Amino acid sequence: MNLKKLVRPNIWELTPYSSARHEFEGQADVLLDANENPMETGLNRYPDPLQRSLKALIAKEKKVEEDSIFLGNGSDEAIDILMRIFCRPGEDAIMTFPPTYGMYQVSADIADVAVLSCPLSEDFQPVIERVEERLTSNTKMLFICSPNNPTGNLISNPAIEGLLQRFEGIIVIDEAYIDFSSSESWTNRLSAFPRLVVLQTFSKAWGLAGIRLGMAFAHPNIIRLMNAVKPPYNVNQLTQRRAIEVLRDHSEQTKEVIALLVKERQRLTTSLKALASVVKIYPSDANFLLVRFKDHQMVFDALKQQGVIVRDRSNALGCRDCLRITVGTPAENDLVVKIIKALT
Ligand SMILES: *Cc1c(COP(=O)(O)O)cnc(C)c1O
Repeated sequence: MNLKKLVRPNIWELTPYSSARHEFEGQADVLLDANENPMETGLNRYPDPLQRSLKALIAKEKKVEEDSIFLGNGSDEAIDILMRIFCRPGEDAIMTFPPTYGMYQVSADIADVAVLSCPLSEDFQPVIERVEERLTSNTKMLFICSPNNPTGNLISNPAIEGLLQRFEGIIVIDEAYIDFSSSESWTNRLSAFPRLVVLQTFSKAWGLAGIRLGMAFAHPNIIRLMNAVKPPYNVNQLTQRRAIEVLRDHSEQTKEVIALLVKERQRLTTSLKALASVVKIYPSDANFLLVRFKDHQMVFDALKQQGVIVRDRSNALGCRDCLRITVGTPAENDLVVKIIKALT
């Protein structure tokens, strides 16, 4: 892999920030190198910039090597960092597959990176011939979201393999919802594809959106660049501590919650399907449903009236008259069905 050809020259040449403590190897008991307060508060020390204890647990959980893991302040930070490693402002481009997650566009806009878009087909799969038509020599990254937000479906393996074989840049697969899916993660294929980056997060299945912890999995050469570009202490001590506790002590419980939500997804689908105002429910491998209504505005307003907020996706490409409804608790799902049923 010729990574150098893909990386912005200033990033390739970058000397990253480094702290005295982390250059020091061996046992140190007196830490007077970082101007911290010496009085113990439980949080008076800077956190480990490379989050090694946490990564050891993630490596075990995800069956990947520790040097293939990057951790960030949400996966949104990973998206932003990838943009700044590979895309020269005002020159390079990324490609997205709408309708999809909005952050790729926002992050590209902030970085002054052009966004080429290649609409998904009617059943929300990439069209390989269209991709080839639209790619330019300055297109550095493709962002594929699977299961896709807001449509809920997985992007097919043959489509992704086709892209991995044909596209010579970085392919990012955003798997924020993979734990709700029956499909395997692309992390299992990292060794075969050195230009693949897989994103996952603690915000959805792990129930930890509040701690802001995202993961990127990739070849160690890409991870090294991400670590060089990130702010030194991007994952704070409270976040690292909480994630360690959850991975160590509550991973079984998390799996039970995921199973419950997947069951609720099915139950909500069945209940909504029976309602006259529902036109279509798209198949979902995530913890939400994309639902087309006869009159989505009326449904949206009725839900809002009763204090239930869902996402109006009716303006997204191919999603006319659609609302995106997150799978809630059994009681919340019952309430949604009851409110919509009363309209018909
Ligand atoms: C929710 C979501 C994320 C999560 O972002 P965090 O910054 O980790 O909270 C990432 N990608 C997609 C597609 C999402 O829907």
